[in-house]
Amino acid sequence: MRNRLSDGTSQTRRKRGHEIELRGLTKSAISKCYDCEDRLFCAPCLVRNFNESGGDYLKVAPHFCKAAALNRKLVLEYLAEKR
Ligand code: SF4
Repeated sequence: MRNRLSDGTSQTRRKRGHEIELRGLTKSAISKCYDCEDRLFCAPCLVRNFNESGGDYLKVAPHFCKAAALNRKLVLEYLAEKR
């Protein structure tokens, strides 16, 4: 019983640590996204990064960048045709 309680407490502390870490993130945490020319055509997401990289929420998955670049290209082409 005592071990279970202490495990629970250490899990709670770990969760608190992650929570504080996440709340402290700023836009510059993912520099690749901060400077990205396709960012207006993308939806950067920590959960998506986490799932696609095997647990690193700051690591951007390249195929989402390709999709954002394609999205940007298509939108700009459409707008150019419309003029
Ligand atoms: S395209 Fe890639 S680098 Fe750019 S904002 Fe989206 S995830 Fe970030």
